[in-house]
This record gives sequence, C-alpha cells and structure tokens, in this order.
Amino acid sequence: MEDSDFQRIAAFRRILGLEREQGFEDRVVIGGLDRFLDQWSAQLSSIIGPPPNYSSMPREERRRWVADVLDRLPAPEPQRAEPRKAEPRKKEFRRASPPPPPLKIDDDVSKVPGVTNSNRPRLQDLGLETVRDLLSHLPIRYNDFSDIRQIADLEFGKNQTVLGTVSEISQSSFGSKRSSAHAVLSDSTGGVRVTWFNQGYLANTFRPGMKLFVSGKVAEFRDNLLFQNPEYEIMGKQGDLVHTGRLVPVYSLVEGLYQRTLRSIIGHIILNRALDACLQQLEEYLPEDVLHRNGLLGIESAFSQIHYPDSFGAKEAARQRLAFDELLLFQMAVLRRRQAWQELGSGIALDVGLPEVDAFVDSLPFSFTDAQKRATDEILSDIQTVRPMNRLLEGDVGSGKTVVAMVAMLAAVLNGYQAAILAPTEILAEQHFLTITRLLRGEGSKDGSQYIANIQLGEREVTVGLLLGSLSKRVKDDTRLMLAAGQINIVIGTHALIQESVDIPKLALAVVDELHRFGVMQRLALRGKGTRPHVLVMSATPIPRSLALTVYGELDVSIIDEMPAGRPQIITRYERPERRRVVYEFVRSQVEEGRQAFMVVPFIEESEIKVGGPIRDEGGQYRMTEGEQERRTKFVRGAVNEYERLSKDVFPELRLGLLHGLMSLREKEEVMDKFQGGAIDILVSTPVVEVGIDVPNATVMVIDCADRFGLAQLHQFRGRVGRGRHESYCILLADEPGESALERLKLIENFRDGFKLADKDLELRGPGDYLGTRQSGALDMKAAKLTDQETAKRSRSEGEKILHIDPALVKEEHRKLAKRMAEYEETVTAEMS
Ligand code: ADP
Ligand code: MG
Repeated sequence: MEDSDFQRIAAFRRILGLEREQGFEDRVVIGGLDRFLDQWSAQLSSIIGPPPNYSSMPREERRRWVADVLDRLPAPEPQRAEPRKAEPRKKEFRRASPPPPPLKIDDDVSKVPGVTNSNRPRLQDLGLETVRDLLSHLPIRYNDFSDIRQIADLEFGKNQTVLGTVSEISQSSFGSKRSSAHAVLSDSTGGVRVTWFNQGYLANTFRPGMKLFVSGKVAEFRDNLLFQNPEYEIMGKQGDLVHTGRLVPVYSLVEGLYQRTLRSIIGHIILNRALDACLQQLEEYLPEDVLHRNGLLGIESAFSQIHYPDSFGAKEAARQRLAFDELLLFQMAVLRRRQAWQELGSGIALDVGLPEVDAFVDSLPFSFTDAQKRATDEILSDIQTVRPMNRLLEGDVGSGKTVVAMVAMLAAVLNGYQAAILAPTEILAEQHFLTITRLLRGEGSKDGSQYIANIQLGEREVTVGLLLGSLSKRVKDDTRLMLAAGQINIVIGTHALIQESVDIPKLALAVVDELHRFGVMQRLALRGKGTRPHVLVMSATPIPRSLALTVYGELDVSIIDEMPAGRPQIITRYERPERRRVVYEFVRSQVEEGRQAFMVVPFIEESEIKVGGPIRDEGGQYRMTEGEQERRTKFVRGAVNEYERLSKDVFPELRLGLLHGLMSLREKEEVMDKFQGGAIDILVSTPVVEVGIDVPNATVMVIDCADRFGLAQLHQFRGRVGRGRHESYCILLADEPGESALERLKLIENFRDGFKLADKDLELRGPGDYLGTRQSGALDMKAAKLTDQETAKRSRSEGEKILHIDPALVKEEHRKLAKRMAEYEETVTAEMS
C-alpha cells in the first residue's frame, strides 16, 4: 500500500470512530458519509467492499457496518508512524496516527496492533486482558501448511501451500446468498483456481498482479485441482507468514471473534520484530542448572515455538518446557503447603478398636465387599497414627464409598472428636445427611429450618448437622456456633463449610466427596480446620494410580474395585432422534411397572448454541468440539420447557417433577423428597442430579442431548440407576452427534465399568477428556497433559531439591522463581473463594 493509502485509512478510521461516538447520526462528514465513501471508494474498496448506502441504513445496521469495517481496517503500521505532533490532541485522534510506544508484556491488549474497540471485548470474553494473557493463550492444534509446492506439483487431498500471482479475480452471487470470490493463481508451472465462498469482499482485496500465498486442502472438480476457502496471505504484508506456508496455530475462540483475527494479533506479538522484544521481557525464572539438567528450552523460545513452531518437534519441545513449569509450580505449591502444615506438629491418633465401630458395621443391612473391607482397613490403620492421613478412596459409581467413610467418621466421633464431609452440591449434601442418619438408625429431622439429628449410639449421643450456603443466615449462624462449641459431631456441608468463618475445633477427620468437583486448594482448605485432621478424599473418577500424583499431589490411594453383589444389569443404548417416541413409550411402560425415571437435559432454559465459545453449564465449562464449532447453531433442550412439554403432550397421565440449580433449596428438597418417596414418576432435571443421588426404585435414565456431555459425566448419570433390585436402562438421545460425540456414546454403550471406560478413553484421547475441564481448570494446566509422567517426576524432584536447599526461596538464584511462585500461589488461593 502507498503512504497515502495509509493516511486515507487513518482518516477513515477517525471518521468512523467519531461516527460511533456521535451515535451513528451521519453528521461527521459534511454531506454525509456516502460522500466521503464515493470520493475514496477506489482506494478503500479493497477493505470495505462496494460502498454501502449509509444514509439509508437504519441505525442498528449502521452500527454493525461501522463495527465490521473498523474490525477490518488494517492495523496502523508502526514503522510508518509520523512523529507525534506537539499540539494536544483529542483522544479519539490518537488511534489514527500511532507512534506506538514499545509494547510491554503487561500492557493492555488494546495496545497490540489488530486489537480494535470491537474485538477487544471478545478477547476479554476469553479472559485475555494483557499481552501476557495473549501469549498464554496456547493453540489447541496446528494446521500443517508447511508443504509449499509449485502449482504443477499439487496433490489432491493434501494440505499444501502455493505462492502464485493473481491473474484473474472476480465475484459472484447467487440469489440472496452472500457472494463468493473466485481467483486464478499462477506460477511458472501453471495455474490453479481458488474459490472463497461467502467472502465476496475478497475480490476487492486481491488485485491482479498481487502475489498471494494460499494454504489448504487441495480439492478437485471435474478433473481440475483447486482450493476452496483456503487460508490466504498477501506476500510482503507482514514480515513472516502468519496464516499460511508453515505450521499455523489454531486457537479456541468465542463467538464474534475470527480465527484469522486472533491469529494476526498473536502473530504480531510473536513474529513482528518491529514490535520488538515482547518475548524478551518474559523473565527466565528457572535456574540455569535446572534448565540445563532437564534439557529445557528457554522461556522465550518456548513461547515463540508453541505459537509458531518451526516443526512439530520444536512445538513438542516448547510444550515440554511449559508443561515442566506448570507441574513444577503446582508441585512446589503443594510441597510448600505440606511443609507449612507439618511444621505445626503432629496430628491425632484415634483408637479404632471401639466396640461401637464394629457394632455399626454389623448393623448394616448388607455385608461389606472384600474391596470395601480392604479400603476400610487401610483407612483405619492410617488414622490410628499421629501422621495425618492423606488418602484417596477411588471406587466406581455405586461401589459403596460412603459407608466406608462413615466407619472412619464414627471412629473419630467415638474418640470425642468431630468429623466433616464436604459435598459438591446441596442436593448431595442433603442426601448424605439423610443416608448417614438412616444408617446410624436415627431420624434426620428439621428443627425449624435447621437440620439436626441426635442419635443414641450405645452409651453415647451423636449429633449430625448440615451446613449449606443457601440456608438462612440465622440457621447458619446457629450451626456454626454449635460446631464451634463441639456440639455437632458430624457435619455435612457444601462450600459453606470451608469458609474461614467456620470453626470446627475438634475436627479429626475431613472427608471430601466427589473430589473431581473441587479444586486442589479447596481440598487443602478443609485441612486447615481443627488440629491437623486426617483427610480422606473420595472419587468415582478412576485415575490410574500413576497419575494420581500429578493430579492430586501427595496422596495414598485405596481402590474399591468390586461392586456389591446382586446389582442389576444396566442396559445402555444410544437412540436416534426418530426413536424419541419409542423411548417415551418405554419410559411409560417402566412407570406402569412401578418404577421411576430420570430425564436429564443440559440446560435450564432451552437455547440455541452458537458458533465457538465456551458455554457454562451448571457444573462448569463445556467446550465445543470442532465439529460443533463448524455448524452455526444447535438446538439444546432446557429442563423447564421439557418439563412442560412432557407433562402436557407426552405423559399427561403421569406425575412429573422438575429439578434444576436455580430452584430454592426448599423447592429442591420438596421435589427430591417426593421422588424418593415415589410420589413423582419422572424427574426432569438439569445435570444437578449428576452425583450421589440414590433412589433405588429408579430404573431409567434418559439423557437428552447426550452429545453435550463428557464421558465421566455420562457415566455418573448412568450411576443414578441400577441401584436397586431391578434391571435398569440408560438411554442416550442425541440429535446430530458429531464424530467425537458418537465415539463417546459408543464407549458408554459398551462399557459399564468406569475404570475400563477410563482406560479406553485414555487410549483414544489421552486423559484430558475423561477428567474433564474442571480438573485441568482447577490446576490451571494448559500445556501439561496427564500422560506427562516423566516430566511430572522430573519437575517434582527438581522442586524437592530447590525447597530442600532453599525452603523460603530467598537465595539469589531463586529470586525470580520466588516471584513467579508468589503469583502462582495467589491465583490458586483466589480459586478457593
Ligand atoms: P458411591 O461409591 O457411588 O458413593 P454409595 O456409597 O452411594 O456409592 O453406595 C451406593 C448404594 O449401595 C447405597 O445405597 C449403599 O447403601 C449401598 N451399599 C454400599 N455398600 C454395599 C454393599 N456392600 N452391599 C450392598 N449395598 C451396598
Ligand atoms: Mg457417593
């Protein structure tokens, strides 16, 4: 582009900025914006396409058009910047003639060329506020466009790149559809056709004679090779190739942000030398000898190569370095907490040989499986020593972990101490309260709206309490007082339990149920209560023993690998949408036989899910698969509408109930009570029923939009049935499952055993999917994978070494590491609140 073009663009940008500020009144340019556009359309059309009739557009359309054009205007060129004039300027003029100061790594993203007022909010949606954040937004994969060919050497079906001269360019449109651009590129060996569907404006961007890189999969039409919707790049526009001709990063997006835009922005930081030295501002905080011993890339090349790798090998080396960092920081944080905690002295040795404990086990309506016995023994032998227990109890859904934990809790209580269970949802906490009081042969009751149960166990009285966030302040205060006074022996609660205001002075055993729903640091917070309590964490998410270290830090592991005898079969089946009626009839027939059913849908309200973007469900984040991102929208059912539809149109004669996370605790209780008591036939619910719910008479679990759930979640849902004597069914409905979703559904159909399921999933996709985003989110691991066992081991031993010679990280060579560590600990602590 000519200098004058840049000035024109700068002026145009200014005008549009003012236009926006003045509310799209079209009063910025005398005679209206159309006048301006008419005058300069030749120069600007390459960017804005054919001039619109701005004056006749309604305001909303003007707004969209302005935003769109602002987005597309090329970034001001730093090298061409004119020196800043002395006279004071208005703010809005500043963007237009930019002598950008050198970019600082902690600068706001808006300082980066390519970031505009309209795409900045999208970056914020992704959590990207600063340049550093952009660097930390790692690619999810790469397109390999490094195979650069002459046109005559192109091969069908391969990802290839050519550099050609535009010899023809045209635009076409069919009916009301958006127009397309068609080009012919030539080099000394021949010519190739290129089509960009729905991107007709590109016909104005490219001009004959221009040199263009295009990259993509080579297609074929009537015996001619061609490119369809390839990535493109005008030669010489930027220094290095950003979109073509190399390994090109692909990032996760949100709606309204284009891959190309984000790639250009990040590419600027990584590749544009003129912006200079952003990467050099990254501090190398690993000591020299650690880098050396472990053959790690320096931090600067790691970040540069993870975004724009020279080869897949280089990318892997970069990932290894970043993974090492994540694992090191995590493990050092855990080690430091353990250190601090151990300095406080030893814990409580409990007497586990009390007759009441045995009496409790004997009083149960069933006998323990061998696996339960083993796990109980391991736990009891831990808690009789002063070394605080730190144990993971793993067992598939329904394997009977709760009773095992109860034995230990009872031992604590009978020794005169307190015990606590932390549950991830209020419903589950309440269920535990009921189960525990029932197993102790007591009656859980509500005293006012407070949950308290007093149970006589031989000579002693045991008081069980429940603490939930949504209880009234008065009730919570009451319960807190009783806890602090030691009047409650066993307390069950949600997050409300780990708040600082909750004091459990005689806590000897803390149990965390459904561990995968909690962050690591939340788990550690419970340990801060009382006098160095024993900690037992329970999980139905099977993690191979070797991985437990990476995920949970320092834990001993007990595994219940056996189901109680006499569990009925669960038949799992994926059904196509046209069979929906048949499924409903089946549910009806089960209800007629006296059984009950769950019908789970992903959201509370039905919605159209749009392209891109993480979506929140009640349990955490759901990330779209690529296939889903390609489709523009997708209909997802909501519990409220489904409940109404099913009650009215499908099961008018049956009793339906509705359960979702936005209902009040009282409403939720009422519904659960009814369902448990058999007064509701079909419970329509959001994923709040995922964990823990125990209704043995329920035999059907219908999961709607099953393609929207991960494997672990599906397996948890299925675990809600097959808990009684009756054969049970898990039916998965999915309208248009993508390829990876289909694979998940197949797995769940074929494997009942959660451990096998996890194995299969590990084989297919690595551990990320099974463990879900919550897990990795909790640890903030972006580069590390669970399979990085070797790296985990090495980083751990380095961490131990460092803390051994310099526990407080005060040595000069650890100064930068100490700083990084402090930041890290701050973020993981923030996670707890
Ligand atoms: P989970 O491991 O999924 O938390 P629970 O502890 O909720 O499983 O147990 C599931 C059900 O099995 C409960 O109703 C429990 O009382 C029952 N149960 C536990 N152990 C046994 C056993 N050994 N035999 C029969 N039923 C059992
Ligand atoms: Mg459980």
